Amino acid sequence: MQVCRSIPELREARAALPQRLAFVPTMGALHAGHLSLVKLARAHSDVVAASVFVNPTQFNDASDFQKYPRTLDDDLRQLEAAGVDLVFAPEATAMYPADEVAVSVDVPALTRQLEGAHRPGHFEGVCRVVLKLFHLVQPSAAVFGMKDFQQLRIIEAMTSGLNLPIEIVRGPTLRDSDGLAMSSRNRRLSAEERERAVAIPRGLEAAEVAFDAGEHDAAALVEIVRTAMAEVKIDYVAAVDAERLEPVETMANGGLLAVAAHVGPVRLIDNRLLS
Ligand code: AMP
Repeated sequence: MQVCRSIPELREARAALPQRLAFVPTMGALHAGHLSLVKLARAHSDVVAASVFVNPTQFNDASDFQKYPRTLDDDLRQLEAAGVDLVFAPEATAMYPADEVAVSVDVPALTRQLEGAHRPGHFEGVCRVVLKLFHLVQPSAAVFGMKDFQQLRIIEAMTSGLNLPIEIVRGPTLRDSDGLAMSSRNRRLSAEERERAVAIPRGLEAAEVAFDAGEHDAAALVEIVRTAMAEVKIDYVAAVDAERLEPVETMANGGLLAVAAHVGPVRLIDNRLLS
């Protein structure tokens, strides 16, 4: 596995690899969810690249950025064991040199609601770094997790809207045995907070059971999630359509239930696609 810490190194390594390459961008602190994306990437291409970069431009909260777990040595061990061929792990100054004139990329119809409403500028930062990474790594396919469903939709729209020749692959959310979605931020939960966090998947599960039993009223489904999540501090619970991410009144045609909540010092997100 080749590890590149600078852009010139990456360009040289990339040039020596075949055109077909599947890419998994991450912010590190890897868990089994990330590795499931690597596996999916491998199913799309013989050659797999990953990036490990805690992207400063997507953090609207400086302390969240500072406290974000950084475990590069362990990440590299896991990526090597998973058979990754190339890792790009740049310093922030390589990605954003001090003299760079900031470039903004946006998908306004998808970036203002849900996470965008609570984290101003977050998705512009995501689009900026992902587009940079796409140009540097030049993948033919890139894998993104459905755990960050809004991010996935934005990347899909950016890729097709800018005619990038990259297939965006959706990776299912991996969960711990009690249902909590795996997340690098889970490491910051105390044992008591970790137990309380289970209210998030339980709420979504309760809504899905009601949906399957015929409850399609969006407000009623949102209320079911909220009731089950009484133990945590809810940021939002929303019922939206799964393409445009706009609020819906009925989920008769399916849709997305999306939640964000604070548990102790950590903000967690999760969602459930209903169909
Ligand atoms: P992150 O390192 O949190 O930026 O995530 C990198 C990629 O892993 C993103 O595409 C995420 O959506 C995806 N991801 C995060 N958590 C999970 C999970 N529990 N299951 C599957 N994919 C995930």
